[in-house]
Order: sequence, then C-alpha cells, then structure tokens
Amino acid sequence: MLKLIKSATLYNPEFVGVRDILLDSHTIIAIEEGIECDYPFVEVIDATDKLAVPGFIDSLVHITGGGGEGGFTSRTPEVNLTDLTRAGITTLVGALGTDAVSRTLTNLIAKTKELNELGLSCYFYSGSYHLPATTLTASVQSDIMLIEECIGVGEVAIADHRGSQLSYNELARLASDSRVGGMLSGKSGIVSIHVGDGPENLKLINEVVDNTDIPITQFLPTHMNRNQELFDAGINYVKRGGYIDLTTSTTPEFLQAGELKCSKALKHFVEVGADMRNITFSSDGHASLPSFDHDGNLTQLEIGSESSLFNEVRDAVLIEGLALEKSLPVITSNPADILKLKKKGRIRVGMDADVVLLDKEELTINSVFSKGKTMVLQGDIKCHGKFERGCD
Ligand code: ZN
Repeated sequence: MLKLIKSATLYNPEFVGVRDILLDSHTIIAIEEGIECDYPFVEVIDATDKLAVPGFIDSLVHITGGGGEGGFTSRTPEVNLTDLTRAGITTLVGALGTDAVSRTLTNLIAKTKELNELGLSCYFYSGSYHLPATTLTASVQSDIMLIEECIGVGEVAIADHRGSQLSYNELARLASDSRVGGMLSGKSGIVSIHVGDGPENLKLINEVVDNTDIPITQFLPTHMNRNQELFDAGINYVKRGGYIDLTTSTTPEFLQAGELKCSKALKHFVEVGADMRNITFSSDGHASLPSFDHDGNLTQLEIGSESSLFNEVRDAVLIEGLALEKSLPVITSNPADILKLKKKGRIRVGMDADVVLLDKEELTINSVFSKGKTMVLQGDIKCHGKFERGCD
C-alpha cells in the first residue's frame, strides 16, 4: 500500500515548506505540492499541523544490552523495537562495550538482523572496548568487507580504566584495518571511539592523525560532553576537521558532576562558530551509566535511554532557542554523511521512506515511518517486537 502524507511542513533537515510526500513500501517516490491520489490503495495521512523530518539516526546503541560493571545483576537488558520507534529512531548502529565476554559479536549480529526484519535499518560495529578486537572472521577488515551490516569498529575505549590501554601503534593499526575494510566494501569503516574521563582525553587519536596518513575523518570519538575539559578538546578537534559525537543519555548526578547537557553544548558550538556538519548526537541507549569514586569503586548504575536522542534536539530548539534546521542535522544528515549511509538522513525522492511527523508546537513525536512501514501513528504504537511485553 502507498502512503500519502498530506500538507506536512517539510524539514529536509533544512526548511523546505508545505509538501505532500508519497511513500511506497520502502522508498520516498514523490514530494510535491498538492499530490492527488484518490485511490483505495493509497493511505492518506493528514499532516496539516505537523512537521515532517527525516527518521532519526542513532550511531551508538547497546542493542544486546551492556553494562555489568557492578557484577552480573548490573547487566542491562536488550533493546525492544518500541524503545527505538517511540524515540523516532529508524536507523541505528549496535555495539558491544565493556563486556565482550558474556556479550558476543554473534549475538550482536543476530540482534541487528532481528531489528532489520522488524523494519528498521540496523548496522553494527565489529570489536568492543578491548583489544585484540572481538570479530566474527578473525579480522576487523574482513568483518567490515564481508558482513553487510558491519560498517566500522567500536566502541574502542581510550582514556578509560575499563579499556585495554591501547598504544599509539595499536590504534593506528586498528584504524587502518577499519579504513581499508570500508574502502573495499564502499562503507565508512568508521572507528567509533569511547573516550573516558582519563586526563589524556584525545591525545591518542591526535597522535595517530599527526603521525600517519590516516585522515582525521576516520574517527568518531563519543561521550565528548563528558566534562568541560573534554568538550573544549572536542572544539579544537572539530577545528582540525574531526567529527565528534555527544551522548544524550545522562543523569542529574552526571550533570551536577560537570557533564554538559547536549542541548546546551550544541548552542555553544553555534556560538563559537564550529563546523556544525561535524557534530552528531547518539543515545548510548541501553548502556549502563556507571559512577565511580576516586578509587575506581562503582557507586551508582543507571541505564541509557534512546528517547534522550530527540529530547535533546527538542530542548535545543524549545529551551536554547536554536532553529530546528540547525539542530536536526545532528541526528539526521550529519550521521548519515559521516557513516556514509547514502539513503538516510534526508527526505528526498529515492531515499528510504524514513519519516517522523512532529506536532508543530510541542515538537512531540506523532508518527514514525521506517522504510515505508508504519511504526507509530498519531501516538499509537502500530508495530511491536514479537515477545515485547507491557506494550499497548
Ligand atoms: Zn562508551
């Protein structure tokens, strides 16, 4: 069945104007003013008081669960389809984290395939926090080249007591493997880097960029809003031409301890004249959010939320006063370009039919279409995972 979204105010993510958008079961097939399609096989969705924006892209979700830093009871559960669709997320990248013993790459791949079968566009990173990298084919390069859904390596931990304490040579070799795997398969081969709160922050990446031929754009360091010092290092890194990712999941305790709220950080980037195309948000959904004391003892553990992804964009608009078209790219066109997902991140003819409708004033998520499939319609969840419980 075709779907005709009527009279939506289109953001692509830049402002376009009022348009009708025609979707088939996978692709955007027309964007015009006043499309008339009076056929019984066309479902018409009135979007007169709605904004149509591209489906959101979340470049870091622990889809098989993560955590475990507080022992076995602190392992976080797997993500459900509706955790993502309620949050407007239609494209995501799954990753392992601290635990690459009880969390396996084979399970990560299976979960990736499950979310794809359910109608989302899900990819994954080979590897984990640690070296030697956790792989399926015994090589990061061949994982990326030969496994369709594998688009890079990550999240590799630096400046963190939970990481493998990589040397400059090890990071350079890993980035080279990922880069070549990406080149040979037409993918980004991006290196997602978990940056901890160690004082060395981005030093290791900068050394690799300074002393090898690997371009700075091969790396996507995340958690860059963890503290002011790291954020300032991130501003300089963007000035060098690098990409950085900010984590939207947080807790009041983290914010009190110096983490920067993403919406405020985004405004700051605008004020300092940073290249806004180089900045992305990700939710770190279903990660554990652990706090440690000075001796490295765990003091608190919470779980990352996918809904934080768009909430921070909304806050950037409604609280910080940024224009929607300045804020939306961090979860649409920017990650699409950086991850080289050519059919994602924009609403254009021929692109995948990933569309979110927002209520005009409150910017609440009203409807979500993923590759033409209705996931949420006027606030009602239309599609669940097979064994999801507690949903309407
Ligand atoms: Zn991380």
